[in-house]
Amino acid sequence: MDILITTHTEFGYVHSDRIIPDKTAIDGVRKGVPNLIKIADKYSAKITFAVMPEVVQYFPKDVDHEIGLHIHAGWEKFQYGNFSCYIGDMYLREHTSHRGTSTVLRDYSYKEQFEMIRTGKDYLEEALDVRPISFVSGRWSINNDTVKALIKSGFKYECSATAHSKPCHHDWSKLPRICMPYQPSVEDYQLKGNLPLLEVPISQMFPRGNVNPENIPIYGISWLKACFLEYYNQDAPLFHMCLHSPCMTDPYFVSKFDELLNFISKHKKIHFIFSSEISDYENFVPKNNIFPYLVRINSKILKLGFNAIKLKVLGSRE
Ligand SMILES: [Zn+2]
Repeated sequence: MDILITTHTEFGYVHSDRIIPDKTAIDGVRKGVPNLIKIADKYSAKITFAVMPEVVQYFPKDVDHEIGLHIHAGWEKFQYGNFSCYIGDMYLREHTSHRGTSTVLRDYSYKEQFEMIRTGKDYLEEALDVRPISFVSGRWSINNDTVKALIKSGFKYECSATAHSKPCHHDWSKLPRICMPYQPSVEDYQLKGNLPLLEVPISQMFPRGNVNPENIPIYGISWLKACFLEYYNQDAPLFHMCLHSPCMTDPYFVSKFDELLNFISKHKKIHFIFSSEISDYENFVPKNNIFPYLVRINSKILKLGFNAIKLKVLGSRE
């Protein structure tokens, strides 16, 4: 089984087990990236860094891992508990002509998206001496125009699909929970077609949720291990994890991610790969198998389940 780790490379710090994407917290990149590389090297794991243009000057030089592009459109203030921070990319703000504030990429026209992607790509090429061909969108938001703009800009891999989900800022609801890479259709990026781009969905836990170490405080590490086993036991060709670089500045997340990679690397026929090494895995029919989860139910899952039932009961009374 191939193992892919995509990392949204951006500023921020961890507070109460949660990432606060503060633009002044440059250690989210300056320390988060080398810390992640240190763990990855321990297990000969490969990391695909999706780098925001605004963090480029803090990204370490001569990194032996893949570098892709991460775009956060617009400029808007968000509240995180007692903290407020801006979402957006300062470099793109200063070097593109669009002045929209929406942080949702699909809200922009083809022309505007193309300009952001092209500007970001050119900057990465010039400053880091790489040719990025992998892409991750901020807030997981793309549409048919994004796909068109990526192909026109020479990208080959798109890694923003949080299969099975549809909040207000993205739509991946047509993808089944367990979904392998596919070439999107020109009419609908969520359907299979023959466009020259590979959509690489992130592995999803049961019943939902990205396989991301940042989810460990919510679901418990045993739930992420169960998801790995659900894929592994049915010979799924790919297991795709994601994370944000600032979580690697926090000792709790560092030790948990180390534990997860240690668990995964003990299995046979595991190959860590970059997104640029992915092929179109044919003839795999995914099956849901909740058995690995049943034997790994933990106190966090029980608490989540209890709260969901409580909400349902309270909701039905109203
Ligand atoms: Zn991001």
